[in-house]
Amino acid sequence: MHNGYYHFAEPKNETVLSYAPGSPERKGLQKAIADLKNEIRDIPMYIGGKEVRSNDKKEIRPPHEIGHLLGHFHASDASHINMAIDAAMEARQRWAETSWEQRAGIFLKAAELLATKYRFKMNAATMLGQSKNAYQAEIDSACELIDFLRFNVHFLSEIYKQQPLSPTGVHNRMEYRPLEGFVLAVTPFNFSAIGGNLPTAPAMCGNVVIWKPANTQVYSASVFMEILIEAGLPDGVINLIYPSGPTLGDICYKHRDFAGVHFTGSTGVFQSMWKSIGDNIALYKSCPRIVGETGGKDFVFVHPSANVDAVVANLARGAFEYQGQKCSAASRAYLPSNLAAEIKEKLCVELETMKMGIVDDFSNFINAVIDEKSFDNIARYIDGVKNSNGAARIICGGGYDKKLGYFVDPTVIETSDPRYVTMCEEIFGPVLTIHVYDADKWEDMLDVVDSTSPYALTGAIFSQDRYTIELMTRKLVNSAGNFYINDKPTGAVVGQQPFGGARASGTNDKAGSILNLYRWLSARTIKETMVPVTNYRYPFHEE
Ligand code: NAD
Repeated sequence: MHNGYYHFAEPKNETVLSYAPGSPERKGLQKAIADLKNEIRDIPMYIGGKEVRSNDKKEIRPPHEIGHLLGHFHASDASHINMAIDAAMEARQRWAETSWEQRAGIFLKAAELLATKYRFKMNAATMLGQSKNAYQAEIDSACELIDFLRFNVHFLSEIYKQQPLSPTGVHNRMEYRPLEGFVLAVTPFNFSAIGGNLPTAPAMCGNVVIWKPANTQVYSASVFMEILIEAGLPDGVINLIYPSGPTLGDICYKHRDFAGVHFTGSTGVFQSMWKSIGDNIALYKSCPRIVGETGGKDFVFVHPSANVDAVVANLARGAFEYQGQKCSAASRAYLPSNLAAEIKEKLCVELETMKMGIVDDFSNFINAVIDEKSFDNIARYIDGVKNSNGAARIICGGGYDKKLGYFVDPTVIETSDPRYVTMCEEIFGPVLTIHVYDADKWEDMLDVVDSTSPYALTGAIFSQDRYTIELMTRKLVNSAGNFYINDKPTGAVVGQQPFGGARASGTNDKAGSILNLYRWLSARTIKETMVPVTNYRYPFHEE
């Protein structure tokens, strides 16, 4: 602070625009989609404020329209990773010494630019690059990312205010320093907002960052980088590069100045990162902060007293929005025998109404899955059911086709075995598996829900009986980091439902909350004594 304690009030969540027919936002978004499709974008790396290009250009195509070329990005090799680390370390001191209100100003300006001038371009890039419909893009790349930026500015101000007691004659204070080194932000394909939050949260705290997005999110990540630059982010504070994961790890985890990793992605990748960091622990100047939000196998448990229509609507949204590619997506459901037939029938009727196709046609609810690797993986699980000799069966959907894009029908599997493979493993696609249980034994099923998968990310219960809600909430206390009562397990909002899970789902540092920001700070305690003692003796040893 410079000559004043400035106030950064708690913001309100950004309003979600409807994109209804005839609305100005619909027109604006459609134009932004057309503009992007008329251009072949050449996407550079951003290192030390400079655009850097390589000879290794990778194509970007919409997952739902693989015949169309959107552009290229310039893949990074080891030399670019080293350049990015050098640029970050060069920027570090000046950025760490920049006053909080000036740093905050940059991120608040970025939020404002995203809410206004860049909103449609950012949403259009997310729709085209990651195959999201207009609503899914709006809640992600516009609203959630704007919220992350504004709420984090507020939360960090609240941290800076926290100061220790000072008795008479002493002034104690806490200084929240950035980490001594660079932070690596490694981000997933499925949320542009996570892509933007993982580098900016540590940067806001005064850290310098190397940002590596998933290759399948580079298209929208580069639009966010444009916004940060226009907002005045100084050179070298966030460096955006596109190396392979292992090449990045080889260099960063062996670097003395590696200060932490802010990761979101799959559990296997996170575990391998942690292992490499552990192997190199003696090399580092300080103990690196390891923050990772990872996979899930998110449950919906339906009590015999549940409201059937609420269950159906929330399974339809919770399992199939964005083709089930949310870490929080409902992917296993436990239905009581007294309600199961009605829920299954109504759910299949609803799924039949979901149109699937390209994002430019706003009547499509379902678009494509992210890439061929993911498509093949999902198809493998579906084929497994078809060849399961009765252990499981498909009750709706089950089709897939990759001629024009990576399309998988919303699919519901039913199994009599609560430990069937699709009840346990993360599939990351539009596939929900249900198990029907004996309604009289609902309480026994809670142990199965708790112990079926290694994850503990999100989970939902449906019940109209308050005593059972209390019992389930208690018994499932460690089964999910985000627990929902009579609601779908997806759709966490910044400031309202801080997000993250435990067990194999990560470190549960709740992205977009005050808890997360503490991980990017290293406090220094300062004690100043006004009139120091001038004699070492105490009264107790006087004669
Ligand atoms: P992913 O693990 O394949 O990739 C995530 C990032 O890690 C990408 O940038 C990727 O390039 C990078 N990477 C891959 N291998 C690497 C390596 N060896 N070293 C360093 N980096 C490496 O995940 P994804 O497919 O992009 O995203 C889907 C996964 O993310 C799912 O498991 C999902 O549950 C999870 N996810 C979790 C949350 C959460 O908050 N818990 C949110 C979104 C996604």
